[in-house]
Amino acid sequence: METTDKDKFIGLEADNVLIDTHSHIYGEEFDADREEVVRRAREAGVGQMLLPAIDSETHERLFDLSRRHAECCTPMMGLHPTSVNDNPQWRDELACVERWLANPPEGVRFCAVGEIGLDLYWSAEFRREQIEAFRRQIELALQYGLPIAVHTRNAWPETVELLRTFAGRGLRGVMHAFTDTVETYRTIRELGDFVFGIGGVVTFRRSPLAEVVREMELDDLVLETDAPYLTPVPHRGTRNESAYVSHVCAKVAEIKGLDPAEVAARTSAAARRIFGLPAPQPPAAAGTERAR
Ligand SMILES: [Zn+2]
Repeated sequence: METTDKDKFIGLEADNVLIDTHSHIYGEEFDADREEVVRRAREAGVGQMLLPAIDSETHERLFDLSRRHAECCTPMMGLHPTSVNDNPQWRDELACVERWLANPPEGVRFCAVGEIGLDLYWSAEFRREQIEAFRRQIELALQYGLPIAVHTRNAWPETVELLRTFAGRGLRGVMHAFTDTVETYRTIRELGDFVFGIGGVVTFRRSPLAEVVREMELDDLVLETDAPYLTPVPHRGTRNESAYVSHVCAKVAEIKGLDPAEVAARTSAAARRIFGLPAPQPPAAAGTERAR
C-alpha cells in the first residue's frame, strides 16, 4: 500500500511534527509490513509514535520495535484492564510490569505507565481486580515520575472516582480514546495534569465527539490512532496505522476552525509536555526549502 496524497500532510513532512500518542504497530497485525508502516507514518509528518503495552505476551515485540526505531517509537509499560479479566495470573502480570519499570530492558526507556484503567464493556465481573491493578499502577507512575495512559470503557464514573483519590499528588497523564461528555472532561482536568486523546472516532459521521471537542481547550488535546483499531475516515473499515493520525488532526482543525499546522503544533506540544519527550528534530539541512 502506498501513501496516498490524502495521507500526506503538506507543509509538515519536514518537521515530523505530529505525534501519535497511542499506537499498537508492534502488534502481529503489522508483521507483514511494519517497516512500511513506520515509513508511511514519517512521510505523513509523524515524528513520534508512543506504544502502549498490553501484557507480557507482547512485551518482546514492543521492545523490539522500540529498539529498532528508537528515534521515533517510544514504549510504555503497563497492564491493560482486559488482560486482568482474561488472566487468573494477573498478579504475576502486575509483578512483571513492576520489574520492567524498576529495570527497563537494555536500550529501552518508558515514557508512561500504560495502558492501564478500567474496561467494564466486556464484563463487570472483574471490576474489583481491575480497580486494584489500576490503583497499583498509578502508585507506580507516581513512584517513577511517569505519566499514565488511561484506557476507560463503560467506566467513566468509576475512573473519575478513582482518580479523585489521587488528586493533589501531582499525577499527570492522558485519557486515551476520550469519548465521554464535556462534563466528564471538566471534572477530570480538575483532578490532575490530564490531557485527552482524540482519535478516529472524531471523524465518524454521527459521532457526538465532534461537539465535545468543540468545547474542549485545544491545549488539553493530544492526537492518537489506537492502530490497528478505530480507523479514521476516509480509511474506515480497514486496518488503522499511525500515518492516519493526520486525518484526526485535519478533523480537529476543521472543528476548531484552525489551520491543521497549528493543531499539529499545539497537540504535539501538549504530548511532549505530558510524556517528557524531546523537542522535534530540526529540518535536516539549513536552507532546505520548507513547504508551507
Ligand atoms: Zn490501546
